[in-house]
Amino acid sequence: MDSQTTIAAISTPLSPAGIGMVRLSGPHALDIAQRLVRPADPKRSPASLPGYSGLYGRVYDQDGEFDEAVVFVYRAPKSYTGEDVAEVCCHGGAYLLRRTLSRCFQLGASPAGPGEFTKRAFLNGKLSLTQAEAVAGLIAAQGSQSAAAALAARDGALQQRIERIAQNLVHLSASLAAWIDYPDEEQDAVFGERLAAQMRQEQQELHGLLEGYKRGRLFRDGIVTAIVGKPNVGKSTLMNLLSGRQKSIVTAIPGTTRDVVESRVMLGDILLELADTAGIRETDDPVEAAGVDLARSTARTAQLVLVVLDSTDRLQDEDRKILEELSGKPAIAVINKTDAGQNIAPQEVFPYVRETVAMSAQSGDGVQQLEEAVLRVMELDQLTPGQDLLISERQLLCAQAAHDQLAEALEALENGMTFDAINVCLDCALDELLVLTGQRASEAVVDEVFSKFCVGK
Ligand code: GDP
Repeated sequence: MDSQTTIAAISTPLSPAGIGMVRLSGPHALDIAQRLVRPADPKRSPASLPGYSGLYGRVYDQDGEFDEAVVFVYRAPKSYTGEDVAEVCCHGGAYLLRRTLSRCFQLGASPAGPGEFTKRAFLNGKLSLTQAEAVAGLIAAQGSQSAAAALAARDGALQQRIERIAQNLVHLSASLAAWIDYPDEEQDAVFGERLAAQMRQEQQELHGLLEGYKRGRLFRDGIVTAIVGKPNVGKSTLMNLLSGRQKSIVTAIPGTTRDVVESRVMLGDILLELADTAGIRETDDPVEAAGVDLARSTARTAQLVLVVLDSTDRLQDEDRKILEELSGKPAIAVINKTDAGQNIAPQEVFPYVRETVAMSAQSGDGVQQLEEAVLRVMELDQLTPGQDLLISERQLLCAQAAHDQLAEALEALENGMTFDAINVCLDCALDELLVLTGQRASEAVVDEVFSKFCVGK
């Protein structure tokens, strides 16, 4: 990256909108803004404004005036990137924004690469690598949980947590080195025990973060969920209720859904990758039988299964058979059509599933209870604040590697290996944590992180 260049990009979506923004960062940002926008008050100009202030003016290019804008000025180092920054807020829409940007290029700005504003912020020490990743997480957040996790990371909570673990490993490694240089034979065992206890504590801490990531990922990526049940129990109606539109065909004729119908839906704050499947029953029709096989395999590979039961009828052997096939999978029995009859008691299905919800897919009654049941069965209600701090696959891999190195160190200690060998593992664990925080991340790692950003961020 050449910090002498001034970069420019459109930072808002290219769709019709009240306001759009072109952002400039670098040594000539304010000069370029000054030549782009003629202030309404001729005594003021972008280049002479103090930081954190703005002015109103008209936007010009070689063909004359084409828009009006407010320019906000931030002066280095007190800006997002740490450089001089001008944010030109004009009217939204692709044409005006592109014309404004193209004028910036004519005046000497270079196109910003993906995430280049945030990368400059990182390289200028305004953000840590984990905080930069959190910015991407915030932009991508689909629900309040993922937004809250990204915001916590943005505020530096992850950085602090990892730095604390790294700090403890440095202390351990130092005391180990001192022990190697000045051993005390009689005390070796006592020292080893203390060392093991401390390593285990840090390993536990990392374990908590890894578990938190796995649960948080369900919020971010969605839970692959299969809707299964006998024909005509209301699977397609449930699918349509949750997706808020007609996705699956609803009829009173059994065996209508033969394919798997998929939809991404938000159930409250939870993202579900829903798959509505063919009704499971014995059939001689080869097409329907293929659908039933597909339903079974969809249920097997899903992370969560919603078994729909028709409460206008008693629980049938066919229902029991479907429930039996779940064998320990996270599953919820949805006792449907409670508006029309209540012939199935939760006790009847508890031998097979931990959660039941009485609802009417037709009226929507019980959806809130379904959401709560999903949270419980996926153990998302146990996601304690502070555990869901890791927000990218890169961070996960580093934390996992550090965790595994500690496990190796503990094993080496148990097997009576030398303290030297244990120290090597500790050093490797520390290395992984420093790559995670960005303190020892290679240029390739940094480039990889920012390549995932959008242009303009
Ligand atoms: P599927 O074969 O399991 O997908 O079932 P459908 O969604 O096609 O529904 C079968 C029939 O049950 C249709 O006539 C629906 O209108 C009806 N149905 C579905 N859900 C409910 C409900 O909650 N209450 C009532 N009264 N009828 C429902």
